[in-house]
Amino acid sequence: MAAAACADADAPTGEPAFATPTAATTPETSPAPTLELTPTPAPPPVPTLAPTAIPAVPEADFHAYPFTLGVASGDPTDTSVILWTRLLTAPGQEELPGGDHEVLWELATSDSFSSVVAAGLASAPAQHGHSVHVDVGDLRPDTWYAYRFRVGSYTSGTGRTRTFPSPDSSPTALKFAFSSCQHYQHGYYAAHRHLAADGLDAFVWLGDYIYERGPLKKIFDRARLHDGPEAVTLADYRARYAQYKRDADLQAHHASHPWIVTWDDHEVDGNYAGDLSQNNDDPEVFLTRRAAGYQAWYEHMPVRLDPPDGADMQFYRSLRWGDLAEFFVLDTRQHRDHPPTDGDFISLGDLTDTKLALRTLSPGALDPSRQVLGNSQQQWLVASMTASTSVWNVLAQSVLMQGFSTLLGQEPPLVIIDGWDGYMGNRNVLLSELSQAGVENIVVLTGDLHMSIAGDVRIDPYDDSSPVVAAEFVSSSISSALGRITTRASPTALEANSQMRFIDTRRGYVVCELSRETFTAVYMALEDVQDPQSGVSEAARIPVIAGHPGLA
Ligand code: FE
Ligand code: CA
Repeated sequence: MAAAACADADAPTGEPAFATPTAATTPETSPAPTLELTPTPAPPPVPTLAPTAIPAVPEADFHAYPFTLGVASGDPTDTSVILWTRLLTAPGQEELPGGDHEVLWELATSDSFSSVVAAGLASAPAQHGHSVHVDVGDLRPDTWYAYRFRVGSYTSGTGRTRTFPSPDSSPTALKFAFSSCQHYQHGYYAAHRHLAADGLDAFVWLGDYIYERGPLKKIFDRARLHDGPEAVTLADYRARYAQYKRDADLQAHHASHPWIVTWDDHEVDGNYAGDLSQNNDDPEVFLTRRAAGYQAWYEHMPVRLDPPDGADMQFYRSLRWGDLAEFFVLDTRQHRDHPPTDGDFISLGDLTDTKLALRTLSPGALDPSRQVLGNSQQQWLVASMTASTSVWNVLAQSVLMQGFSTLLGQEPPLVIIDGWDGYMGNRNVLLSELSQAGVENIVVLTGDLHMSIAGDVRIDPYDDSSPVVAAEFVSSSISSALGRITTRASPTALEANSQMRFIDTRRGYVVCELSRETFTAVYMALEDVQDPQSGVSEAARIPVIAGHPGLA
């Protein structure tokens, strides 16, 4: 990871040239970011408060625009943020020479870059696909910045990012959004275009950034096709990320505010669990594939993490927004035990894309030693949440926690064992520990199901008298289509699941508006995922009240 800022971020910076949509200001005064997502000529020399702090722009030994995947930022603290890009020229253009490259990065208080407060050189190593991760430190808390990269005569588009408020401050508001699942072949990214203009402080991504399979045989009306076959090698995964990241709406969203990113299964292989692949490959063979998927994920994400060590990646982490909210970012795939095999798996005709189990016939699912997070992550989570002094404790994770009896005319009810329902004993232990530790105001953010759900997380989801420990908001997908099982189950989901309060099967995302008293989830639904210019509309507004577990 590259070094921190070399310039003096504490120098007087004057008024920022754009509004700062934080607790202290009104969000409606925040303009949409001015983005430059097309190649621009090198700007004139930038006047700065500390001119010697900006190194010379490294020379380029290529003649094609290298910032075709855009820019991004992520994992902010109160004094630092990760800046990201990856050098890659457009298909059909001159390729980058194979060795390591170097870029200049600049961070300023306005989009004009008239006041650069930090700058430095960062490496774009060949072994990491010429990706750049800069950890810029010594910044001011609770402050917006503009950033960009330069090499030779080429300048990247401008991104905007921000630091979070200091952990010992007491902010009164936070506005972030979350979503997941952007299958490129299922539709367009109008949702990202709206999210880019929403005046958010941050965005939380809950997995399925890419999908690993090859081109669909039967494509959706007007939808796009994957280039290349199912991703297995590092080169395959890199190419898939590059295809997704060339989308202008996705680039605009990354460039508009910092992201907090977790992953789910499709960044490697559908429904994988630890070293178990979807097709029961030899674990050694699958772990080689997992290593490739993890490395490509790291190369394309603005995360404050070290690169993976083979098939292993230190992943879970937490971020604080003053004392108002703490985000616990979880990995529900890497350390997960294999799904239960002792249930009566049933075939439902063509419904074979997700494994189901008869709930009451699966002692494996009830065995508390079979875990989703693994020992060390679960112990870290319980200890960190127990020690938390934040008003809101937010779990950013991928798979459904509140339970989903899908009925489908079966008795006893069926559950989808790829979520926490496949690990009921483990869920019971984790939630009981959090409950006994007195952790309050837990809000679980979830993706994966391609539908919107809001409900209560009970220690036993299927027992109405079981204590409520948390609220769970499930976002729909940016573009991925509803699965066949959830399509069949959704009409009866509310009546079959007393813990659920709301469902909606349209594509979309959730905007979260936090105060010290309420956490309001605003569900936004996309009109038509096949229309790149689609509008969105509010589908529901669901609050959680501080001091009251679960939905209000
Ligand atoms: Fe998905
Ligand atoms: Ca998934």
